[in-house]
Amino acid sequence: MSMLKRIAGKATAKIAKQANVTHVERLSKHILRVRIEGEQFDQLAWSPGDKIKLHVGDGNMRSYTPAQFNPTEKWMDLIFHLHGNGPASEWASSLKGGEETYFMGPAKSMASITTHRPWTMFFGDETTIGLAQALKDALPTDVEMHIAIELEAEDQDALKQLPISIQPIIREGIHGTTLLQHAKQLTIPEGDGAIWLSGEANTVLSLRTFFLSQGLERSQLLIKPYWSIKGKADRKQLERTQLKN
Ligand SMILES: Cc1cc2nc3c(=O)[nH]c(=O)nc-3n(C[C@H](O)[C@H](O)[C@H](O)COP(=O)(O)OP(=O)(O)OC[C@H]3O[C@@H](n4cnc5c(N)ncnc54)[C@H](O)[C@@H]3O)c2cc1C
Repeated sequence: MSMLKRIAGKATAKIAKQANVTHVERLSKHILRVRIEGEQFDQLAWSPGDKIKLHVGDGNMRSYTPAQFNPTEKWMDLIFHLHGNGPASEWASSLKGGEETYFMGPAKSMASITTHRPWTMFFGDETTIGLAQALKDALPTDVEMHIAIELEAEDQDALKQLPISIQPIIREGIHGTTLLQHAKQLTIPEGDGAIWLSGEANTVLSLRTFFLSQGLERSQLLIKPYWSIKGKADRKQLERTQLKN
């Protein structure tokens, strides 16, 4: 019997997809790139920004964003933030390659751009590196994208190992403070650009409030909080209220 059938309930087993961990690459102390592969991957429908719900041991499922998906070669890469305080972080930290797991999805999460935009910006943290890569890869090459990721100083070298250019914003003090300062120093280009905001929910809220105060339209802000420093209930609550577009 497959691992999926052993662990998952009957309903889950029908819709979940089996995957094997084939590559594990420690990009820095807290950033890990993991490749998973599966026989059915060539039948998956995926758009950049979509999430999967991954089994991370003991029946726990957590959301992750494929940074890259290659249906022909049947693999996807995920970038984990090893924050050290939860089952997914622990599970990812223990990976060596060769493990079996399963997931649900891919499913819609962060909007990608459907119409042409002259410029784009992306603000996030360690949890959104994969999302930034997926969205950047999907943009036409003539559309500029400024990507700013707030992270710890000891993790900044991870960004140099990615195929996209990201400006590291070194975290100082409370989560999101330096990212907001960075946003305030930027010149927002003219024209109908778009700004993606993702990562920690309260940081996303501060950035959203700032950009709206600068005259950006709500429709220009593409928002998806990924976690909250105050816990999951806070993220869900903000999503239903102040972060609802
Ligand atoms: C649509 C979506 C896509 C996502 N994609 C990614 C991705 O590609 N890569 C990625 O790394 N994360 C991603 N996340 C975030 C990830 O799902 C959460 O960080 C998740 O809580 C991690 O699970 P856990 O079991 O490690 O911790 P949990 O058991 O969920 O949480 C335990 C505690 O840790 C805290 N915590 C959770 N995440 C963090 C963090 N990053 N830093 C510090 N404290 C934290 C929580 O507030 C809580 O107090 C995504 C989230 C969503 C909603």
